[in-house]
Amino acid sequence: MTKKDLINSGKVKSVFTTDNDDEVLIEFRDDMTAGDGERKEVMSKKGSYNAVISSKIFKVLEDGGVKTQFINLIKTNEILATKLEMIPIEVIIRNIATGSLVRTYPIEDGTPLNPPIVQMDFKDDEFHDPMLNDSIIKALGIATQEEIDTLKDLAFKVNDILKEFFDDAGIILVDFKIEFGKDKDGNIVLGDEISPDSCRLWDKETFEMLDKELFRKGEDDKVMEAYVEVYNRIIPDEDKAKFDL
Ligand code: 5GP
Repeated sequence: MTKKDLINSGKVKSVFTTDNDDEVLIEFRDDMTAGDGERKEVMSKKGSYNAVISSKIFKVLEDGGVKTQFINLIKTNEILATKLEMIPIEVIIRNIATGSLVRTYPIEDGTPLNPPIVQMDFKDDEFHDPMLNDSIIKALGIATQEEIDTLKDLAFKVNDILKEFFDDAGIILVDFKIEFGKDKDGNIVLGDEISPDSCRLWDKETFEMLDKELFRKGEDDKVMEAYVEVYNRIIPDEDKAKFDL
């Protein structure tokens, strides 16, 4: 496998072509951003921790029957993945009310949500990722009703699998954001990453934050400690021995 041309450089990841037209290489950089990219810092090894954590989570989801774009971890910060045409929707699942939900609606921070909330935001920095509904998605021509239903079903399935996976590691999966794309046959496949950048994760005993919310709050010195804690809890020791992290 050869890493070739840069085709997309996002806020924290870069996507490259490879010698196989159906595959891409995703490089996880050490950049960390908040507020639509307004604040940006570099956190040493963050890219590697996120790539390893995301690879593990995608393998757990594949084992649970969710089709993902993940093929292989090439280096600690590089993933080989199936090439997808990404759907510009951020699918968010919330198990506990916090973040933008409690800033927007009259619901107390920390309220358990049963059933969980599924929310869809338009992935567009210029418009500040506004919340969508089924009618708006169809009016904008982003997806059909059948595709919207598939995205929601898959998001709930991801939630069921990951709530249990994180619970076994002593972590509460508070909420998370996922993205999907279509493969060359038109199948909807889970893409992008699932990491402490895209989830809210709380320690089950202390409710301490183990995710990017620390950066959003300006507690930059605690960020990598939290990411390493998630890594230590979910990556088996025999796998850790393979990574120089
Ligand atoms: P909220 O809407 O409360 O800010 O975020 C809900 C969940 O989705 C959180 O877990 C948050 O990390 C994730 N999330 C929402 N928007 C984004 C985004 O643009 N990028 C990333 N990485 N995660 C997001």
